[in-house]
Amino acid sequence: MINLKNCPNCKSIENDQFLTSKDYSTSKEIFNIVKCKNCELLFTNPRPSENEIGKYYLSNNYISHTNNNKGFFNFMYQTVRKYAIESKTKLLLKHSIIGHHLDIGSGTGEYLNSCSKEGYKCIGIEPSKIAREQAENNFNLMIKENIDLKQFSNDTFDSISMWHVLEHVYKLDETIKNLSRIINNNGTLIIAVPNYMSFDAKFYKKYWAAWDLPIHLNHFSPKTIINIFEKNNFKLKKKKGMIFDSFYVSLLSNQYKNGRKQYLKGFLIGLLSNISAFFKISDYSSIIYIFKREK
Ligand SMILES: [Zn+2]
Repeated sequence: MINLKNCPNCKSIENDQFLTSKDYSTSKEIFNIVKCKNCELLFTNPRPSENEIGKYYLSNNYISHTNNNKGFFNFMYQTVRKYAIESKTKLLLKHSIIGHHLDIGSGTGEYLNSCSKEGYKCIGIEPSKIAREQAENNFNLMIKENIDLKQFSNDTFDSISMWHVLEHVYKLDETIKNLSRIINNNGTLIIAVPNYMSFDAKFYKKYWAAWDLPIHLNHFSPKTIINIFEKNNFKLKKKKGMIFDSFYVSLLSNQYKNGRKQYLKGFLIGLLSNISAFFKISDYSSIIYIFKREK
């Protein structure tokens, strides 16, 4: 375990205890989240080191890297996933030129393959060997194992996406500075992350599945994420809710809280979360932020 003295974003040494929760999916170990007094970022602290984190990913519930189709829950998950890949590709097409695209955390490569079919010249980054090999074998994609963005020279990409990845990143400040460096002027950056200010987060509190401790190291509100990127010469162009995430997260949160998914209750809380976000009473469970690089 590592105990951070400084905030991973602004380096401030002052923070307050925010929430204690646990790794419900794998280890059942207790973890802590603190809030930076300066920039308001929430971060998991203490946290497993980069060498230790691998074992926390070895959960049966962690199906984003696999494609097994067992049970109704997984069936729904896979169906929604297929739809999500199409809408992510459409979103990229709408907000960027068809050029060099980098997808960080490319998983098994379905989204990148879809972008590639639209004419993008694609590169992926994926540390998981199983996922990387599937992407390379199934779709003939170029996927890098090395997660260090220093490997790319300045102004390499016209667009970059990170779908539910920034919350897993160890060197937050360094990563964002590198994103700003390797993207072209006017380049498009797409960031999707969970939102702890959502209705479902407030409803489930420590049981909220998108805390996902300890593999989520950074926890963002719309305010913190926009501040962080604007500080690094990105301008927010659009913010879009991910309406399926609230259902998925609510079902998993029921599981953590009561030992059962409780489909009807999960559906209702997910729906309430979307309705309250739609009417701006709170905000969506997960949010896509589209930034433009302005040099
Ligand atoms: Zn801070």
